[in-house]
Amino acid sequence: MNLDAADLTRLDRAHIIHPYLPGSATERVIMTEGSGCRLTDTEGRSYLDATGGLWLAQVGHGRTELADVAHRQMRKLEYFTSFWEFSNERAIELATRLARMAPDPLNHVYFTSGGSEGNEAAIKMARYYHHRRGDTDRTWILARSKAYHGIGYGGGSATGFPLYHEGFAPMMPHVSHLTPPWPYRSELYGDRPLSPEEVTDFLVRELEERIAEIGPSRIAAMIGEPIMGVGGMLVPPSDYWPRVREVLDRHGILLIFDEVVTAYGRVGDWFAAQHFGVTPDIIVTAKGITSGYVPLGALLVGDHVAEVLLREHGFPMGYTYNGHPVATAVAAANLDIIDKEGLLGRATSMGAFLHGELEAQLGELPIVGEIRSVGMMLAVELVQDRDTRTPLPLLPEQMPHDVIRRETGVIVRDSAHSLVLSPPLIMTEAEAKEAAGALRSVLERTEPSGEI
Ligand code: PLP
Repeated sequence: MNLDAADLTRLDRAHIIHPYLPGSATERVIMTEGSGCRLTDTEGRSYLDATGGLWLAQVGHGRTELADVAHRQMRKLEYFTSFWEFSNERAIELATRLARMAPDPLNHVYFTSGGSEGNEAAIKMARYYHHRRGDTDRTWILARSKAYHGIGYGGGSATGFPLYHEGFAPMMPHVSHLTPPWPYRSELYGDRPLSPEEVTDFLVRELEERIAEIGPSRIAAMIGEPIMGVGGMLVPPSDYWPRVREVLDRHGILLIFDEVVTAYGRVGDWFAAQHFGVTPDIIVTAKGITSGYVPLGALLVGDHVAEVLLREHGFPMGYTYNGHPVATAVAAANLDIIDKEGLLGRATSMGAFLHGELEAQLGELPIVGEIRSVGMMLAVELVQDRDTRTPLPLLPEQMPHDVIRRETGVIVRDSAHSLVLSPPLIMTEAEAKEAAGALRSVLERTEPSGEI
């Protein structure tokens, strides 16, 4: 087929169901090439990818060395199953490496093809772990409002937005949502804005009360993103996770960290667990493990959990693509790049630089309520009024991120009244300035009514 840009748009509209895009939408941005932080579309227009695809392009676009690794592995062994006694060299090498990188005792790896599959697996593992130990009542999963855990019925039920539940009923039973840590909006759950210590006190008290209500011996696990991404890049106070862990431990409840976004350098460490100094029982990862070059996910599972899962007939759940040789080969090469190019340190330093640029260019704008970041996860929270912190109304036809992309070619994402940036970790200072300047050019003329 020899298709021009107009043909591609027409055929896309005719045949592709895009998530979150109404059928009436006529605009398409059809990407054809990528290099570093830049993308090019069918019209030849260039973009700055400040969202890292969907929070994942750690090493940037167009790394031919990753293509070469995939090519070599496909020629050698493209696929064989990892069920039963079968395995492959690349999956073993990657699992060994991940076990070394993860905090002890997370020494076991269960591969998937992405984050949603990973969360399904983690929730089932948690229930199954208790079941095999004879704790058959432990079926409840604690999650948080504003959480995003993917599209499965397990992770989707743990997800804390009504939008993701409406029309899909019945969701998975035995899921209970707690209040998310959101220091900037703590007046929503206190009677006034709370200090970080008070935020943690409030949330830990709520957790204790919820556990008492449900019954401690009926709860399998709590699942949480260490930093909530889709919910608006919500960073908890530094003592939140250690104190939550202590409560869960006291009641024999497992802790699952959904690190689909936060792992592999995004926050300046291999895992956000290390950033917060907390070791969960299971870490779910995906996205940055391959920087998106091929689909892959990996659960890091504690020795104590794996020992139970591996009893008798083993863990009765597998995916066709568990431990895919090409995906695991590319992941290892991607981790090599992160290592060799010092991208963990760069996430911290360039994240701080980008944060500084955003402060310098946007800090004084009346509709900018807060700029927050950890490493290369950044958010600019938009408000109608800085004193009341009322969220900026979002007009569907004038969403700031859409206007920014159309006018400047800089791609950022909208998450719950915040503009979120998660660029490739290789972003340069010039690109950071360009991104901040693009936001300024639109936000400086955005009215408190949301009109641009
Ligand atoms: N968990 C979190 C925290 C995510 O942000 C996402 C996707 O954005 C997922 C899970 C789902 O991952 P996937 O889209 O790879 O299924």
